[in-house]
Amino acid sequence: MEDCIFCKIVKGEIPSFKVYEDEKVFAFEDINPISPGHTLIIPKRHAKDLWEISSDDLSAVHSASKKIIKAIQDVLQPSGVACVQLNGPGANQVVLHYHLHLVPRIVGDPELPVATWEINEGDMEAIKETAVRIAAAIK
Ligand code: AMP
Ligand code: ZN
Repeated sequence: MEDCIFCKIVKGEIPSFKVYEDEKVFAFEDINPISPGHTLIIPKRHAKDLWEISSDDLSAVHSASKKIIKAIQDVLQPSGVACVQLNGPGANQVVLHYHLHLVPRIVGDPELPVATWEINEGDMEAIKETAVRIAAAIK
């Protein structure tokens, strides 16, 4: 896609700190890292989000994440790695080209807000009703 910043990175039109590339996938360091080693993994073929990406490219991105998380483990020995993936501006997705964040966590880091939501017991009837509706819509 012409004016997509991540497509430009794949094509080498914008520089990036590449860590991995294969036929379908490109991975590079986030230039506004939450922590050292914050890495983005993207499909080479443009797709906006989880609604749009093909199962094939999705599988390639997530298979690559397994290789990269292993390298992050070896190099940085994090206490954990958060995999974060946002879909749509309503979920704070800023770059509209599918990407999976790998965010290494170090002991003592401030908590990631996305991982610290308050646990409140839900309304079981409402949960059940929503589950039934989603299950019935799965194709
Ligand atoms: P998101 O909110 O999931 O869409 O996050 C987009 C991410 O892309 C942010 O963490 C940005 O720091 C990152 N980003 C934007 N432009 C670049 C770039 N040119 N190189 C590397 N990372 C970038
Ligand atoms: Zn793109």
